[in-house]
Amino acid sequence: RASGLGSWAIYHPEMAETDRYRKWIETELGQAIGKNEFELVYQPQVDTTNGETVGYEALLRWEHREKGAIPPAEFITVAEKCGLINQIGSWVLRQACVDARYFTSGEKIAVNVSPKQMEQDDFVDTLAAILRAQAVDPARIEIEITENVLIHDQRKIREQFEQIRALGCSIAIDDFGTGYSNLNYLSDLPFSKLKLDQSFVSRIEDRKNGGALVSTIVNLARALDVDVLAEGVETENQMVMLNAAGCTLMQGYYFGKPVALQRQQTLAA
Ligand code: C2E
Ligand code: CA
Ligand code: CA
Ligand code: CA
Repeated sequence: RASGLGSWAIYHPEMAETDRYRKWIETELGQAIGKNEFELVYQPQVDTTNGETVGYEALLRWEHREKGAIPPAEFITVAEKCGLINQIGSWVLRQACVDARYFTSGEKIAVNVSPKQMEQDDFVDTLAAILRAQAVDPARIEIEITENVLIHDQRKIREQFEQIRALGCSIAIDDFGTGYSNLNYLSDLPFSKLKLDQSFVSRIEDRKNGGALVSTIVNLARALDVDVLAEGVETENQMVMLNAAGCTLMQGYYFGKPVALQRQQTLAA
């Protein structure tokens, strides 16, 4: 069990509930692929200097046949703990490549990869095999990996990053600003985008130094010669303030919610 010994000293009914829920997710997750319960939705990434959509982030949705929608925040952690994340992650990569035909070659498809998944020695081989099987140009795929991965085995992460880049995919550091990056180490890694965590955006208006924090990260990105994209932009004012801080790439409900592709088109084709 993941919970420490201390948690068993006192009986918490809600903890037993949580534990049971986790077990339930684990069992059901194992069948989700076979039962066709997963789907990818896509959210636009916009260049606000010209209004063009430059990419789409693929986000996983699980619609359980009885319980309905279960949010990724609830099942991804469980999948990482029980190892199912590798199978699920491969499904996500494959589906994103299958869906690639719906996007123009100028629109990148950003795919979330769990640190647990990337740690697998065969991760890059799996990625390469999927790209080849679906005949997708690797340059169209961006791998999103959370900043927290950087606290893991640094040599191994760098190796994986280099192999991903050698394959032709680009790498974005997700949730940037929430982890504890060693900037010296960061500057040595082959990635091309920082995704500024949503928390910076939601506080840009009410925090005195909100704009200054963002421009500091924009300057850091410039020094590293990488792009910076702000996540979770919900209002015009947030966009304006981000622009003032030097950030032009954005994603969020203000520009578009994650939506499913029109799969009827597949049948019609
Ligand atoms: P994330 O990668 O940071 O994804 C951004 C999350 O913010 C998504 O939640 C998205 O729907 C939500 N979002 C987008 N725009 C806005 C906005 O304007 N306002 C607000 N409040 N939220 C916004 P979602 O889809 O529930 O995903 C949550 C997390 O689950 C993701 O965070 C990611 O860490 C994980 N996840 C989702 N799909 C996958 C996947 O295919 N593989 C892996 N490993 N993780 C995934
Ligand atoms: Ca992401
Ligand atoms: Ca994020
Ligand atoms: Ca996140």
